[in-house]
Amino acid sequence: MDAFASAPRPLAPIAGGTDLLIDLEQGRHAPVQTLIDVTEIKELLALEIRDDSLFIGASVPVNRIVLDPLAGAHAQALTEACELIAGPQVRNVATLGGNVAHALPAADGTIALLALDAHAEIASLAAQAAVPGGVGTRRIPFKDLFVGPGKSILKHGEELLVGFYLPLIEMGQASCFKRIMRPQGVALPIINVAIWLERERDTIKDIRIAVGPGSATPFRATEAESVLRGQPLTEATFESALEALLAQAQFRTSARRASSDYRQHLVVTLFKETLESAWRRAGLALT
Ligand SMILES: Cc1cc2nc3c(=O)[nH]c(=O)nc-3n(C[C@H](O)[C@H](O)[C@H](O)COP(=O)(O)OP(=O)(O)OC[C@H]3O[C@@H](n4cnc5c(N)ncnc54)[C@H](O)[C@@H]3O)c2cc1C
Repeated sequence: MDAFASAPRPLAPIAGGTDLLIDLEQGRHAPVQTLIDVTEIKELLALEIRDDSLFIGASVPVNRIVLDPLAGAHAQALTEACELIAGPQVRNVATLGGNVAHALPAADGTIALLALDAHAEIASLAAQAAVPGGVGTRRIPFKDLFVGPGKSILKHGEELLVGFYLPLIEMGQASCFKRIMRPQGVALPIINVAIWLERERDTIKDIRIAVGPGSATPFRATEAESVLRGQPLTEATFESALEALLAQAQFRTSARRASSDYRQHLVVTLFKETLESAWRRAGLALT
């Protein structure tokens, strides 16, 4: 952490570098004097049960999440998202923290964490100078990290993502992540959906739905959630929820991936399939 205090500015933390190096090369990131490698900081590499939550450190490579039994048990949507990110070489170095700090509204890990109701832990590096040996940290709801496409509240060179706290899965709860990619695509998807669902017999007791890119920041379909909460999953409730989702989401046209209309078209099937999977899994988790 001392490196952050003494290094020439401007500086940026670098983890896998799979976003940052390309952004620097292509001029999408302001030039920096110093890159500080955060992949050896022990605290950022933990993946464990902590404070009755699943803690995943920011520097954990996404491939480790795919293979980790705790993540598989408590954060299935995240495991599924991480498994779909890029190819094996990228997954070995790309980190969950980098995926989130890049702050794109359709980043796969980010959309899964949103549906899983994660909280982000942020370390203030200035606080370390003030309190010898200690780093001031704070925990915030995941959604509050984001302010716009590619923009987070993290203060450059002054704050670091430490990791993410996810609620542990309980009886009747399950999650699912699905996405649609251009056939030749290797980076962000055309559209993705993550759903966490709690089932009580034949009723949806609680639900969280995240869709990327559904707005300028990672999007929760809260209107559709309200429609489904307390209801059985039927064709009629699905149609009402879909209507609410389409009314609330702002699907944009992006030059390289898809038009707004095409995203609206695709989300119908993707939402249905993800919802039905989460519903079935939650049913199995009742017994
Ligand atoms: C070929 C290819 C395919 C890809 N496919 C996908 C895909 O399918 N889905 C997808 O979502 N993404 C994809 N990506 C994007 C990228 O791989 C992911 O977003 C990855 O998780 C980024 O992590 P990283 O460790 O490489 O981040 P880096 O590039 O190291 O950093 C990204 C940003 O986060 C900041 N940062 C890193 N760690 C921290 C920290 N602890 N605290 C604060 N800031 C931090 C950096 O300063 C930088 O601004 C792809 C990229 C490539 C090159």
